[in-house]
Amino acid sequence: MWRPVALLLLLLVPLRAPAVETMRIAMGDAQGEVRVSGKGLSFGSDTEDAAFTPLQQDGVVVRRRGSRLELNGAPVIGSAVRFRAGVESSDAGTPGDSAIRARDMEVRGDVVVRLYKDGLQLINVIALEDYLAAVLGSEMPVSFPSEALKAQAVAARTYALQKKLEAYGAPFHMGSSVLHQVYGGLNREDPRTRAAVVATRGEVLTYELAPIEAYFHASCGGHTESGWDSLQRDLPYLKAVECPCGRLPASRWSATVSDAELRAALGQPTEGFRVTGRTSTHRVSRVSVAGGASVDGAQFRRKLGYTKLKSLDFDVEHTQGKWHFTGRGYGHGAGLCQWGAKALADGGMSYRDILLHYYPDTELQQLY
Ligand SMILES: [Zn+2]
Repeated sequence: MWRPVALLLLLLVPLRAPAVETMRIAMGDAQGEVRVSGKGLSFGSDTEDAAFTPLQQDGVVVRRRGSRLELNGAPVIGSAVRFRAGVESSDAGTPGDSAIRARDMEVRGDVVVRLYKDGLQLINVIALEDYLAAVLGSEMPVSFPSEALKAQAVAARTYALQKKLEAYGAPFHMGSSVLHQVYGGLNREDPRTRAAVVATRGEVLTYELAPIEAYFHASCGGHTESGWDSLQRDLPYLKAVECPCGRLPASRWSATVSDAELRAALGQPTEGFRVTGRTSTHRVSRVSVAGGASVDGAQFRRKLGYTKLKSLDFDVEHTQGKWHFTGRGYGHGAGLCQWGAKALADGGMSYRDILLHYYPDTELQQLY
């Protein structure tokens, strides 16, 4: 059977041997002007086969003037400029490997500055494997066992490729905040994250030949949550599965919220609330607010704050004007549980089996 998703998967495979799989990561916006610096800086157009011209200096100010861009005061053609540090690569389709700095971030690869709304937008064009080495250090403690780091590397690669397919042809594929994957640039790389990325190079989790939406979270508290109950994503490979992290003290949390804080967070003059619905894994799915409407669990957690209410698997008591929460897990609970992956790796499980535990019915494929 012909599947559009399978065709998209093929599009990801580099057509020319030297080219590498790249990602375009939004680094944020700037007003008016931005400084880009790096040793042996050169610039070109924002295309895969651009020719780069040396700047003869290690830093440049990119300024927006009306609907045009200027480099150190000289106008340039086009709505975007791409910068690369170091000796120009023999293949223009391969982003640079030297460090390049823009705003407050130091990254590998190329930096694109483009006209965006009334200001400028910065995008890091980076080889996917370099991006993963940096992401891993922001997403999982580098001291975790290597099989857990490898499982996280495959999940992060799969997540990124799925986002790239979703955003095909757009100026960028992902942001750099916790909304997507936390990307801190070069300074978050570590020999251990690099090793986990190299050991799983090109490996992607697929379902019916397409990269899956590989959600992950810090700790599930004992059971992961189905995709529907946690994220309203009805995906066959996001099922509730058992997890050993529930035995770890780190998966427990408590929080106290005063009546006044509760009123401020919910934005209504309520006397209190009552849990009126739970999912099959004991997570709160519905909360009724006294004298007001009811809200779903995810909304309730967002209003009280994701770091305050670390998960929806909680019990709550009200005494002396305060709400005392005791809970299990940290995060939405869908897909790979990082502390569970650590426990399974400590017990001798391979990264392949860890992945199949948290994403049942998927296949691990070598994309390149
Ligand atoms: Zn867990």
